[in-house]
Amino acid sequence: MPETYYVILGVAEDATVDHIKSAYRQKALELHPDHHGDDAGPFLAVQEAYAVLSNPERRRAYDRSLQTAELRASRPEPKPVRVGHRHPHPPAVVPVEPVDIGEVSLSRSFETFSPSFEAIFDRLWSNFAGRSRPKDELPKSLTIDVPIAIEDAEIGGFARVMVPAVAACPTCEGHGGVGPFECWRCSGSGSVTGEFPVQVEFPAGMTSAHVATVPLDHLGITNTYLVVRFRVV
Ligand SMILES: [Zn+2]
Repeated sequence: MPETYYVILGVAEDATVDHIKSAYRQKALELHPDHHGDDAGPFLAVQEAYAVLSNPERRRAYDRSLQTAELRASRPEPKPVRVGHRHPHPPAVVPVEPVDIGEVSLSRSFETFSPSFEAIFDRLWSNFAGRSRPKDELPKSLTIDVPIAIEDAEIGGFARVMVPAVAACPTCEGHGGVGPFECWRCSGSGSVTGEFPVQVEFPAGMTSAHVATVPLDHLGITNTYLVVRFRVV
């Protein structure tokens, strides 16, 4: 089962905003890097999930993308048929778990690329912090190459591309302060920066290459989209 934002926060898909908020507070406390060693991954995942689900517009877009992903996923590998369903031919093949090839860091991928990582970072950053941007700015692609082992290509799976972005500060919930005090975590800005995982899938039975285009709107990045080139090695 894919880790949807709902699964990450442990809430139902029809959860209310209040419910999502309290689930987020609970999880953010549990997984906070200060209490959870060096692994900030789960904490950032919770941040990303909350940033999307707490915003009605972004939540709607995400729900739509979930439905599309479900439709896509059910085409090559139909879900097991429930007893009593009218489907005459239950699939004989047992579904195989997709391969998680792990995190792909943009900063690492771009050491040898042009434009420089600084230029890319700058473009991503211009989505946040109220920087002025040209109104007619067209979204640009950001291409990364991801090698896939031949065994993994047969099964299909996904990579998690770590995209730098800004999310609501978990300590002050984006208010910049707690009571009369300035928030220590975000120094009053109300937001924190981090690398947020974006899951990108590659299909089963991939023979040479597969290109996936991924919008980053759910992270608040509208001037850049990812182009992930999976290459069988
Ligand atoms: Zn804060």
